Amino acid sequence: MNAIDLEARYAAHNYEPLPVVLTRGEGAHLWDVDGRKYIDMMSAYSAASHGHGHPRILAALNEQAKRLAVPSRAYFNDRLGPFLKEICRVTGLDAALPMNTGAEAVETAIKAARRWGYRVKGIPKDRAEIIVANGNFHGRTTTIIGFSSEADYRDGFGPFAPGFVSVPYGDLAAIERAISPNTAAILMEPIQGEAGIIVPPAGFLTGLRQLCDKRNVLLILDEVQSGLGRTGAWFAYQHEGIRPDGVVLGKALGGGVLPVSAFVGQRHLMDVFTPGSHGSTFGGNPLAATVGLEAINVLRDEKLIERSRELGEYLLTRLRAIKSPALKDVRGRGLWAGAEIEPKIASARTVCERLLKKGVLSKETHHTVVRLAPPLIISRQDLDSAIDRLDETLAEVCKTARAYAAA
Ligand code: PMP
Repeated sequence: MNAIDLEARYAAHNYEPLPVVLTRGEGAHLWDVDGRKYIDMMSAYSAASHGHGHPRILAALNEQAKRLAVPSRAYFNDRLGPFLKEICRVTGLDAALPMNTGAEAVETAIKAARRWGYRVKGIPKDRAEIIVANGNFHGRTTTIIGFSSEADYRDGFGPFAPGFVSVPYGDLAAIERAISPNTAAILMEPIQGEAGIIVPPAGFLTGLRQLCDKRNVLLILDEVQSGLGRTGAWFAYQHEGIRPDGVVLGKALGGGVLPVSAFVGQRHLMDVFTPGSHGSTFGGNPLAATVGLEAINVLRDEKLIERSRELGEYLLTRLRAIKSPALKDVRGRGLWAGAEIEPKIASARTVCERLLKKGVLSKETHHTVVRLAPPLIISRQDLDSAIDRLDETLAEVCKTARAYAAA
């Protein structure tokens, strides 16, 4: 059986991958089992922001794997402290709690917010509320999907945890109306990724910060996908010069090789955690900490944040210059763009399948948006080539739609 048949036979069918079997990656390129080369315009949802197999990250991984990988946090280890210190430095926050996946770090944020609500704000027991946004994506645990607005994510998985109030994204007035004396936190993505790269109105984050200060509510931003350079800043909240109470990191923190996540916050928030109140067998292990630290160092040393900003502006300018009836809208910031496809002409899936045949890997989100989020190390030449292929593809789907209409 080939790889696709093996998965069909032995895997749970919780994904619908594009029909390509990858076997190797280097930088912004991936190769399939037949030796075909692709430009990666996805970077594993930002997890491979450093590119595949970054030499410095691989060296750090290998060296540390030989020395000490997973001793558990029953003991101190010599790699965790330096890693967390650096996370605090780049976020401008005070303390961090290391986890593995993004969803776990979001769960950590929820626990922190609730405990802060009871112990610091004085919310009555078990009444804490967290305000979230319609269209949010924060992961796949039962608590998190319980406040998703996506029917597919929830269907058949209830009952769900109470304590979440969902409001329209980007709507400060609606958020203010949703705040009650029991509101502990507002938890939002600074740009909604899975929803289709939804950029909120300018001033939204500043408005959230002011609202939270006024009403004694925590501002917690999920930067699992937007963080660590993706939007052309270390963190998206820096575009508006604000400081959240807490921030959730993941994906790129693992340098493209490991799951590494963290919940990072101001001291008054992080101090709600006491021994025994939270933990993870793998969280903060020396291997993950070494890779995480190197991932941050590489972003800084290789000026990948600046690169994301410059190449990102170029990407958006080029995409916006494509005049095609198949392209309804282009949104984004940094090296992160959503191309909204006119559904009367083609589905985003069709566009991605055609791009695949042309050697460009992207992925649809929902039925209408093609996501473009290459590794931050991508060359301008590869970026140009990928955009040219998209331009061609849009012309092709228009032609097909016209032929279909005429028939
Ligand atoms: N938060 C955001 C904003 C995300 O985009 C994602 C993953 N797409 C997650 C959380 C969940 O991360 P993970 O899949 O590592 O649990």
